[in-house]
Amino acid sequence: MAKMLAWEVDRRGPVATGPLHAVHREVPEAGPGELLIRVTASAVCRTDLHVVEGDLPPHKSPVVPGHEVVGEVVSPAQRAGEKVGVAWLRYTDGTCVYCGRGAENLCPASRYTGWDADGGYAEYTVAPTDYVYRLPDGYPDEELAPLLCAGIIGYRALRRANLPPGGSLGIYGFGASAHLAAQVALAEGARVHVLTRAAAAQELARELGAASVGGARDQPPEPLDSAILFAPAGDLVPVAMAALDRGGTLAIAGIHLSDIPPLNYQRHLFQEREVRSVTANTRQDGRELLDFAARHRLRVTTTRYRLDAADRALADLAGDRVNGAAVLIP
Ligand SMILES: [Zn+2]
Ligand SMILES: [Zn+2]
Repeated sequence: MAKMLAWEVDRRGPVATGPLHAVHREVPEAGPGELLIRVTASAVCRTDLHVVEGDLPPHKSPVVPGHEVVGEVVSPAQRAGEKVGVAWLRYTDGTCVYCGRGAENLCPASRYTGWDADGGYAEYTVAPTDYVYRLPDGYPDEELAPLLCAGIIGYRALRRANLPPGGSLGIYGFGASAHLAAQVALAEGARVHVLTRAAAAQELARELGAASVGGARDQPPEPLDSAILFAPAGDLVPVAMAALDRGGTLAIAGIHLSDIPPLNYQRHLFQEREVRSVTANTRQDGRELLDFAARHRLRVTTTRYRLDAADRALADLAGDRVNGAAVLIP
């Protein structure tokens, strides 16, 4: 049996304590309805950090993290050589009330890549045929990988933020997901205000065409029709809510958020301001974002790591030392 390099987590804990370790394990086999994929690029997401550090309860142990995976189909033979993308959502039952109304992201039976099943921090991975994506032309694999979670979640968060045509959008935190959502909003004619403390992120926001750039707690120069909180910082919720215009909407993009301090009804919620969460994505969201990327060449900022440096990539993400998305290249 052929062996491959993969990274496993079996004991959750802070990244500094080394919960992720490299192993040589057998190349997995594709079952019925599955594809065996040779990984060519695998992006590192903040959710991987939550899996590794235990903010998300273990669903499988050991598990190979990674859910933004680009690769080439190895089997079945009739699809060999095809380039595909593997993302976070990998199973829904298709029969529950949520699936029935097109909200498969809320399916209680849903399963996720790199959490319920082994993901992309490896040379090969297996994915269900019905949940892989066709990918747009014109992008290197390294730039396609971050589209598969950072891009899709940013896209869903933007839709959840209810941005009116020609409206103003505030973006709190400016990592991989935010810089892609910003480009979609800008292409759709929004004025985008980026609120983040990191100097490199502020610079990138300016280059992409943000109308203003400020610190996370600064007041944007105009009231916001919509805001997206990408930073996993609950203390920014009242800050963003207070910056909303009447009828404005705040979408919280993260899967994990620190506690939200008390909201004041008059300052934060009255005048029909809304706060909403974003939970995973539907396959339709994924297709829409990838279609958008085919029509508009998105600028995808990446920092490249070799697959054997996955632990360092994750530590750099934890320490906010990555510009754009970290991508592992086997
Ligand atoms: Zn369902
Ligand atoms: Zn992700």
